[in-house]
Amino acid sequence: MEKEKRSYGAHVLALPYPSQGHINPMLHFCKRLVSKGLKATLAITTFISNTMDPKSDSVQFDTVSDGYDEGGFMQAESIQAYLERLEVSGSQTLAELIKRYQSSDHPIDCVVYDAFSPWALKVTKQFGLPGATFFTQPCCVNYIYYYAYHGFLKLPVSSLPVSIPGMPLLELPDMPSFIYVHGSYPAYFELVLNQFLDVEKADYVLVNTFYKLEDKVVDTMSKVSPLITIGPTIPSFYLDKRVENDYEYGLNLFHSDGSNCTHWLSTKPKGSVVYISFGSMANLVQEQMEEIAWGLKGSNYNFLWVVRDSEGEKIPEKFIDETTSEKGLFVKWSPQLEVLSSEAVGCFFSHCGWNSAIEALSLGVPMVVMPQWTDQTTNAKFVQDVWKVGVRVRVDEKGIVGREEIEGHVREVMEGERGKEMKKNAMKWRDLAKEAVSEGGTSDLNINEFVSKLINSK
Ligand code: UDP
Repeated sequence: MEKEKRSYGAHVLALPYPSQGHINPMLHFCKRLVSKGLKATLAITTFISNTMDPKSDSVQFDTVSDGYDEGGFMQAESIQAYLERLEVSGSQTLAELIKRYQSSDHPIDCVVYDAFSPWALKVTKQFGLPGATFFTQPCCVNYIYYYAYHGFLKLPVSSLPVSIPGMPLLELPDMPSFIYVHGSYPAYFELVLNQFLDVEKADYVLVNTFYKLEDKVVDTMSKVSPLITIGPTIPSFYLDKRVENDYEYGLNLFHSDGSNCTHWLSTKPKGSVVYISFGSMANLVQEQMEEIAWGLKGSNYNFLWVVRDSEGEKIPEKFIDETTSEKGLFVKWSPQLEVLSSEAVGCFFSHCGWNSAIEALSLGVPMVVMPQWTDQTTNAKFVQDVWKVGVRVRVDEKGIVGREEIEGHVREVMEGERGKEMKKNAMKWRDLAKEAVSEGGTSDLNINEFVSKLINSK
């Protein structure tokens, strides 16, 4: 036991918010910490642990409870009810977990918690431990929330465009959805603003982005709210290849049709496939799914479309009947990084969730973005106008993106002059993402400093 205790520098307990887009970056960050000599335990909810099959050679898994052990979020009466119970049960079970480790041979030395769960810092401090809050969304989004949290941004927004230092001027649809549709999802709005609750008491503020991607916002925001950039937190195989056996995140909330996708893609010419996925949560209205289907048909490109079970019935039957298996493949969940890294993929039609966007940036894939809500609208603004790696489709007066709009933008990215420019820019960001996490890169140095501070403060 003594021997094992000495074999790692410090033990980090990581607590992600229990959704796919929050677990992925935190799990990968843990793997990177392990590769740098730490021990890492990822605390997932009992429900997720019971229903998934978490896999990792290096990170250990343990559980806390969100108060909904039988059904997770789907079991909750409302968003508000879920978040309240998550805080109560999460705090209690996190405390029990830390207590258990403190009396073992592997006491916890630091808790890395999702910025969505600021209550975790209170528990951490009860044990006298350092706490690191982990922002899974980009700095540009965090800074807008910082402004709103401190009342620097008056809501509802009446003066446009919005001017925030370090950012381009923002029109209303460029703001996170909770701001541009004032009053929508009040419980989630409170959640994202409360990322700044007690943030000054956290010992570290980690953000899943990389410096050169957001240098101006990072510099500006750091002056008022110190932070370090540690991303992109995507499996090392796709970036610096320094973390052994790090090919995938290792925890999928949905069953993946992996080999099917890769085999199908391997039969397709370079740059000939549109990959379509709206992440783990988006529920599109039937009319929108129909417009996407007919827009794709109009573009005449091959496509690989992730349609989760809950979305399947919204695709027109006629479209399915008319699609040959050579032309299009529908899957319920894909190995997204493998797909994006395939030469066959020419563009990613995405909802612009931050993980999807930073994965596309890291793998050099241009995008057509159709943001739905939360941070996706602001991510889309940056994808189009700052990083210049994609185009955003616009909704009509009914709130739907029409088939011509979709077809036109898919063509623009796949074959137009602007598309070529986007591809070039995407390759530039890919190289810079690699540089950030490679030896001596900005994220690498920040992580090294975090690791050595943890080891030295023990
Ligand atoms: N993802 C995947 N297979 C899919 C769709 C998504 O592995 O078919 C992964 C994707 O790589 C990303 C995460 O799920 O890491 C989705 O996170 P994102 O922030 O893009 O969207 P969210 O699901 O939070 O809306």
